[in-house]
Amino acid sequence: MRAVSPEVFLISRPEVDYVELAEYLRAVGGESWLQRVDESREGWNDGQNLAEFAGRTCYRSWEPGLNPNVTRVRSDQGEYLRNILASAHGSVLEHVNYTFALHNVSRVFTHELVRHRVGVAISQESLRFVRLNDIPFWFPEWAREDAELMKRATEMLDRMEEFQNWMAAHFGLDEDGVPFAEKKHRTSFMRRFAPEGVGTGLVWTANVRTLRHTIEARTAAGAEEEIRLVFNRIGEIMQEEAPALFGDYVVEDGAWIPIWRKV
Ligand SMILES: Cc1cc2nc3c(=O)[nH]c(=O)nc-3n(C[C@H](O)[C@H](O)[C@H](O)COP(=O)(O)OP(=O)(O)OC[C@H]3O[C@@H](n4cnc5c(N)ncnc54)[C@H](O)[C@@H]3O)c2cc1C
Repeated sequence: MRAVSPEVFLISRPEVDYVELAEYLRAVGGESWLQRVDESREGWNDGQNLAEFAGRTCYRSWEPGLNPNVTRVRSDQGEYLRNILASAHGSVLEHVNYTFALHNVSRVFTHELVRHRVGVAISQESLRFVRLNDIPFWFPEWAREDAELMKRATEMLDRMEEFQNWMAAHFGLDEDGVPFAEKKHRTSFMRRFAPEGVGTGLVWTANVRTLRHTIEARTAAGAEEEIRLVFNRIGEIMQEEAPALFGDYVVEDGAWIPIWRKV
């Protein structure tokens, strides 16, 4: 058994092509918006800019008068995006995607995560292909403090680990010339003897609409403790990454509660 902890890495975020965007804005007469973005912001935030741009496309609200029905526009991005959230105009948030590498998360966690079907892309480590030569395992702090529990749990996991290695030798998987299909067949059988808590990995991409929903659902008091831990971390990362899109949450006893639900 190898003691591990779930880890979250934000590995990809939106990148706007401002040259193309400026060309488009020239075509529709909305260049002043880009100028405002340039002058008023200390750091460019492509995720927030993309959400704002998509939202403004709907009403041509880059500046007043482009659409004769629009006589005033909000010039502050924070205020603009707050209004998007408040008016539940969540579809514009679907343009903005982030990708996370989730490391040393269990199959308990991944079973729960994949229930979120909308607005996601998933690539999960295949334990049919990847052979377990040890068993990475996370123990929550309360379990680590229980000596008898840890002794019994560790003994059992060590035994499972030893059985994995025994099976690999028994099936001769490392001998010369074993076809890959044979290794895959045996490895798939062997994983059945791994615990559901085995640490594994997954790449998870989600758009901001989905992220907002899953952060709320998976940090709720009734959610499972590992997924709460991971989504608390994802919430923290996203608040830093895109404060105008994630700044409305209040954290109460570990539960992330947004002002604007399910936009
Ligand atoms: C605390 C907690 C306990 C849970 N316990 C259980 C349990 O005991 N057993 C169990 O099986 N599951 C359980 N779940 C999983 C839960 O039932 C959902 O499957 C999971 O949270 C995915 O969320 P979602 O349904 O909002 O779907 P998502 O895929 O995240 O979709 C987001 C939203 O899109 C809309 N949507 C998505 N798909 C459709 C569709 N096909 N038709 C119409 N609208 C759609 C809905 O508004 C949905 O809320 C639990 C979840 C939580 C958070």
